[in-house]
Amino acid sequence: MNGYRRATMPAFSARAPNLLLSRRMACLALGQLAIGCTAKPVDRPTTTREPSALLAQQHAALGRIVDIPARIRPAFQLDGFDPPPPPRSGDWRSTHNEMGESFEEYVHTFPQVPTMERSALALRVMGDLSIKPEIIREYLEIFYSLPVILLPRSDDQSWAAMSKVDKNGQRQVFASDALDRLQPTVPENAFACVGLTEDLLLGNKALEQVYAVNEPERRVGVMTFAGSVPLPPRGSDVSSDVEMLRRYLKSASHEIGHTFGFAHCVYFACNMAGAASPDEADRRPAHVCPICLRKLYWATRANLVGRYQKLASFYTRYGMATEAAWVTTRSHQLVAPAQATL
Ligand SMILES: [Zn+2]
Ligand SMILES: [Zn+2]
Repeated sequence: MNGYRRATMPAFSARAPNLLLSRRMACLALGQLAIGCTAKPVDRPTTTREPSALLAQQHAALGRIVDIPARIRPAFQLDGFDPPPPPRSGDWRSTHNEMGESFEEYVHTFPQVPTMERSALALRVMGDLSIKPEIIREYLEIFYSLPVILLPRSDDQSWAAMSKVDKNGQRQVFASDALDRLQPTVPENAFACVGLTEDLLLGNKALEQVYAVNEPERRVGVMTFAGSVPLPPRGSDVSSDVEMLRRYLKSASHEIGHTFGFAHCVYFACNMAGAASPDEADRRPAHVCPICLRKLYWATRANLVGRYQKLASFYTRYGMATEAAWVTTRSHQLVAPAQATL
């Protein structure tokens, strides 16, 4: 058993106000200022950490894994994962001074996670979506190893009424309005209900554009693909375009990671790394690193071997060969030591 298992931790415990604020506005800002974040983005040299220093940080962030069952411990070995790529000018890491979040730090935020009574994640499309939502639903169900419910699409007229169109023709909506719209429809068995949209999301006060906002205390969140995916023309269906499909799935899995309370990853090339543009998002892999995987495992108790095998099947079915090969290799690395101990 994992010593950090949340059995004694209430899923929706009260938090310190500053922590609540940072959780509420957990994700990325598209604009100049990260709403709700305590640190204003700063320009700083794009430095790369020394390999030995990075390795020490990775080990510290992962923590001791002796409490994890031996048969799945190889899933958390650090070798075989790429370091973070050197940030380019304008990248997220070059403009946001993020220090990273260890596994232990994550646990001690008392994050929003599924419970026995509220074991599912609910999704609702709000506005246009250029990919079949069922594909996203299935992917997230496998990625996070929990039931994912696709609720009926938000009513077009009411969505249009709460949004406005900017001078570029891009529809935008206040995130708080979207959350208010979601709240009455949160299923009783859902630990969170997240709206998916391609419209711009605005923070409350200064019209900052944000990628996602989560309010754990209300079990609602909303995320946009605008900013991390080069959006196709309105009304498109890019579900059969592998490159576009990859972008949507990577973006959805990243933002739902924030719903679980995962902070941005600074330790590896990882799906939970921040991205300030579609180009930078493209450079993120679909998989999560061992540290973020440990958070995922703690939050969901995923069957890690089965997860990789199902992901391999999913990726193969949708033509994502690179991702299929990666998870297949990982599943083999997990299965082999497990068999050796039998
Ligand atoms: Zn993010
Ligand atoms: Zn990571």
